[in-house]
Amino acid sequence: MEEPIMFDSTNRRAEAVTFREALLKGQAPDKGLYMPRSIPALSAGEITGFAKMEYHEIAHFVSGKFLQGQLPDRDLAALCRDAYDFPVPLEKVDDRQYVMRLDQGPTASFKDFAARLMGRLINYYLLQGNEKLLILTATSGDTGSAIANAFFGLDNIQVLVLFPEKEVTTRQRKQMTTLGGNVSIISVDGKFDHCQALVKEAFSDPELAHLPLSSANSINIGRLVPQIVYYFYAYSRLRRLPDEPAVFSVPSGNFGDMMGAVLAMRMGLPAKRLVIATNENDEFPRFVSSGSYRPIEPSRNCISSAMNVGHPSNLARLIALYGGTMDEKGHIGRMPDMERLRRDIFAVSITEAETRQAIRSAFEKHRLLLEPHGAVGWAGLQQYLLQEPQAPDQLCVSLETAHPAKFPEEIRAILGFDPSLPPSLLGIEDRAESSLAMANDYPKFKDFLKKNYS
Ligand SMILES: *Cc1c(COP(=O)(O)O)cnc(C)c1O
Repeated sequence: MEEPIMFDSTNRRAEAVTFREALLKGQAPDKGLYMPRSIPALSAGEITGFAKMEYHEIAHFVSGKFLQGQLPDRDLAALCRDAYDFPVPLEKVDDRQYVMRLDQGPTASFKDFAARLMGRLINYYLLQGNEKLLILTATSGDTGSAIANAFFGLDNIQVLVLFPEKEVTTRQRKQMTTLGGNVSIISVDGKFDHCQALVKEAFSDPELAHLPLSSANSINIGRLVPQIVYYFYAYSRLRRLPDEPAVFSVPSGNFGDMMGAVLAMRMGLPAKRLVIATNENDEFPRFVSSGSYRPIEPSRNCISSAMNVGHPSNLARLIALYGGTMDEKGHIGRMPDMERLRRDIFAVSITEAETRQAIRSAFEKHRLLLEPHGAVGWAGLQQYLLQEPQAPDQLCVSLETAHPAKFPEEIRAILGFDPSLPPSLLGIEDRAESSLAMANDYPKFKDFLKKNYS
């Protein structure tokens, strides 16, 4: 058997661990992020072979490269088959321009891709050790529903989500409260920050130390590996010639999605350039052009709300991959290879006006329906093509990361109609809800945890 790939912390002051340990730990003890020490390379023949494989088979192949020796191959294959049971449409826009719709999962967001496989892997290891976990999460809407849905029905995991009663939309709430089973929901009479504070206090409460609490952290390596897969998938379906280079455009916030693209490129994906498009939180495009990095504090509120990030949590990983170091606060210890980074990445910030204009013109010109996040990616791709003109047959793929029906207000204001619901959200209005209302009161919350989970 081949040696397992080891994972190092980007802060370089923690011991290297296997995938399993990195998955269960989340963050490294030195507050750094885990990164694979070596990146497995795929041969041209392996990449060609993807054309004949289903999505879940490609997911199995690619993640297997990082997980070798960490679980039997057939078990990983089964987890992938179970996680990826929904379509991944590639919508043709122009001759060689496509939009990859990552919005057909259970919460109609691309976060389903990462959360579903991570949940299944964690559950797999818990089953092996006959251990249980209680995932405790505070949400302002989308993260909670992606986590709740991804972990729904997994035997050894209980999920408890706290949300601010008055701050989530009806649709967001129903994505959480209609699940039941191992998923419990508490609506807190307070704001998101109060929910967050309740969860944090529970994590550090010695009287709850006997509970197996975990947070399904967004920087977990288990969420990164699955995000490599769809780049290979799109390429396998769309290329016309062997080794034909493709341009991918990625609407970005915390840069997990972008890291998936960069890792795919390092593994051998023939990517000509990655367009990394942010909203008005432009700290990264500024860094790429100037070489100096300044987080934006507080972050700017844009309609692509899931990308309102003033200091991307995965940036340290990108810097590490290009030979530099950055600590958790954003201080650069050693500069990365900027020349190589600029060769691989075209970074661009899209304004609010440009985002709205992209939604309008994509629909008017191409009947392409985008929501604000996907529109940032699409507008970024158009700016790249304007600044660096390509041959007309250049293959380009822009990612749509959420379903337009999740943002009906914006779409209605710009296009004058309501997008229809995807299958995953159909019928949700009529399903029975169950949640517990609670005051913003820690002793009460603690009592609840002790009574129900001890
Ligand atoms: C989280 C999210 C993003 C940003 O992805 P990152 O990996 O954080 O860059 C983009 N679009 C949508 C809809 C999201 O939910």
